[in-house]
Amino acid sequence: MSKPLSDLVTDLIHHDYQPPAGWAAVPPGVFKASTVMFSNVAALRARTWKSKAGYTYGLHGTPTTFTLEERIATLEGGRFCVLAPSGLAAITMVNVGLLQQGDEVLLPDNVYGPSKEMARTLLAGWGIGHQLYDPMDPDDLARRIGTRTRLVWLEAPGSVTMEFPDLRGLIAVARERGVTTALDNTWGAGLAFGAFDLGVDISMHALTKYPSGGADVLMGSVVTRDESLHHRILQAHGRLGVGVAANDAETVLRSLPTIALRYHAHDAAARELALFLGRQPTVRQVLHPALPGSPGHAHWAATCTAAAGLFSVMLDPAIAPERVDAFVDALRRFKIGYSWGGPVSLVVPYDLPSMRSDTSSLPGHLVRFSIGLESVADLRADLAQALEQLG
Ligand SMILES: *Cc1c(COP(=O)(O)O)cnc(C)c1O
Repeated sequence: MSKPLSDLVTDLIHHDYQPPAGWAAVPPGVFKASTVMFSNVAALRARTWKSKAGYTYGLHGTPTTFTLEERIATLEGGRFCVLAPSGLAAITMVNVGLLQQGDEVLLPDNVYGPSKEMARTLLAGWGIGHQLYDPMDPDDLARRIGTRTRLVWLEAPGSVTMEFPDLRGLIAVARERGVTTALDNTWGAGLAFGAFDLGVDISMHALTKYPSGGADVLMGSVVTRDESLHHRILQAHGRLGVGVAANDAETVLRSLPTIALRYHAHDAAARELALFLGRQPTVRQVLHPALPGSPGHAHWAATCTAAAGLFSVMLDPAIAPERVDAFVDALRRFKIGYSWGGPVSLVVPYDLPSMRSDTSSLPGHLVRFSIGLESVADLRADLAQALEQLG
């Protein structure tokens, strides 16, 4: 006789079927959990979120997020990785993990905008000071490091004006004074240069960009080689409660094997289009660190073996701002929008004077391009037809 129907619900929840062991396939499994179950009280008491030896709670990691963390650590040449639900949340974990009231953090003047905004608002409110330094002048950084300085952020290149700094020089200055360095490595993505070979302590990466590659996920990571630094980041992660969803981790795991192919394709297409734009009479300057004449090109050449698919142009200051907007609006393949690293080419006109302390070296209108994976000939033709708006 079958069981009463009222018992069915329990059987559905506590089902004793176990699929056969030995499953093997290309994608890693996707595990979802808030609750992690322990076999007994002793196991519950023994387990700690501080190591990857076991699981405690969904926030502190699942087989899926641990797998992605290990792969990102490999990509960047580090030992430890902590994921965050966006690149900006990864920046937050570093700041919260390393800074306390009374401390000071130094940021390059061309730093990712929301990072500057965080320093001006949240960090200032918590009694954490900040200063902006000239990323192209290690002596300026040296002058600004004081007894309260606990962290120096680096970015290479600046993600709008594209100056490539002397990373080795900046890192040496911070090291001499015993100050921790954190690099926003989103542009390099682990593929253009080895961040840890240069001596950085922390590499933060917006996985939203090339690791995702699909313009469909927000995620960030913080990679370290030093275990005590890693523990401070991990503690900030747990205290802030910034977990990553399994489906998002799955999406990045799926994209990661093709990152090098995509990165180099974006790179080749961007260089070709940057050169094309550089030949246009309305373009005053092309800002692409791999092109001679771009700010910091020599540092790029001494540091990198590749470049991301990102560059900006400075249009002739004599052009009326409405013509610049008309140029951007006339583009068909390039979509207007923030971010980069996805298949679709993107364009954003930036108001440089509102972003920087000093923009005298870059007169004109700045337009930034993120080159996607479309045919280069189509993108060139699109630029050519839109440039007529500037003529
Ligand atoms: C996009 C980006 C970030 C932030 O990443 P989100 O996932 O969008 O929060 C940080 N730094 C750089 C250089 C970026 O391009």
